Amino acid sequence: MRTPRVEIDLDAITQNARVLVERFAALRLAVCGVTKATAGSPEVARALIAAGVASLGESRIENVERLRRAGVAASILLVRSPMVSEVERVVRSVDVSLNSELEVVRLLGESARRQRRTHGVVLMVELGDLREGMMPSDVHETVRQVLDVPGITLVGIGTNLACRSGVVPDASNMGELSALASAIEADFGVVLDIVSGGNSANLSWASVPGVDVGRVNHLRLGEAVLLGRDPVRGDPVNGLGTRAFTIVGEVIESKIKPVRARGTIGRTAFGRPGDGSVDAWRPWEPLAGPNARHQVVVALGRQDVDPDGLTLPDGFRLLGTSSDHLVLAALGRPPAVGEELRFGVDYSALLRAMGSRSVGVYHRAGTALPPT
Ligand SMILES: *Cc1c(COP(=O)(O)O)cnc(C)c1O
Repeated sequence: MRTPRVEIDLDAITQNARVLVERFAALRLAVCGVTKATAGSPEVARALIAAGVASLGESRIENVERLRRAGVAASILLVRSPMVSEVERVVRSVDVSLNSELEVVRLLGESARRQRRTHGVVLMVELGDLREGMMPSDVHETVRQVLDVPGITLVGIGTNLACRSGVVPDASNMGELSALASAIEADFGVVLDIVSGGNSANLSWASVPGVDVGRVNHLRLGEAVLLGRDPVRGDPVNGLGTRAFTIVGEVIESKIKPVRARGTIGRTAFGRPGDGSVDAWRPWEPLAGPNARHQVVVALGRQDVDPDGLTLPDGFRLLGTSSDHLVLAALGRPPAVGEELRFGVDYSALLRAMGSRSVGVYHRAGTALPPT
């Protein structure tokens, strides 16, 4: 197997998704399984489909196309607004997209007519987080216009919180979305199939005992199903596994080195002030000699992963990172050159690793670990 690599435990993903699908079925909340942190992995998509997700979510058209080429036929929701330059591809491969610009919806409609298809649209509403979405006061007029665009089906409305500004989904903003949905249905005599309340940050809101979800009937879940974590609290979610993804890196140097850097200290490779002069001897580290310690270099860098998002194996401390290297202190038994070290990942580390050409991807279902 190549290193560095991401190892994916597909059973753990299916298990997480199944727990959430079942938990939310009681609230009549459909789960859209978002694959974007895996760069549209068809294996992960199939693991989610096996768990009974209502649809798949992707943010990038090239990832959607990857899924389609691999034969994934499930309904796919594009969770980022289509770019004007890609509407043709979006209509070809995606069933429904999240939208906030009427101009884009019109172009999607023209393309849909050219391709003799219909394209579904979920209109995104800005409810405080200040990323995508139209102001609530503009929703009615936009719905009126969208209903007149040939080739377009208005599938629903939605919102996205907790991404740009960290606004937490709660009874107030979810109530606002519900009220908008009811008002649109009453005023236009339509039925909105999807009222999409948000992403994994909605877990706390949806988990309050006796919660009234109102008209909200859909969540788009990536981090929760893949990593088992609630991004608002940063905690593992009850009943979910957090170890579906592991990054494996290989030791390329393992030596006793001084604790302090030597020479005049300027900036480091990534422009931060060097800390070599102030990284003083830590009394809790077993000394390899006076002011020395066992230092390990792993062939895993910023090109491969977000080093800040790694969970180190026990017995190691992070000393530094560069494009291609991870420098660790070995507190216990020092690893040999060629040995592999295994790291846990957060969303950011996973996203970068799955998008990096230098990182291999291997899947495990049961115990075997076939490559992509
Ligand atoms: C990324 C994304 C999601 C999924 O977010 P998670 O935090 O991974 O659950 C849902 N909706 C939109 C619009 C997104 O961009």
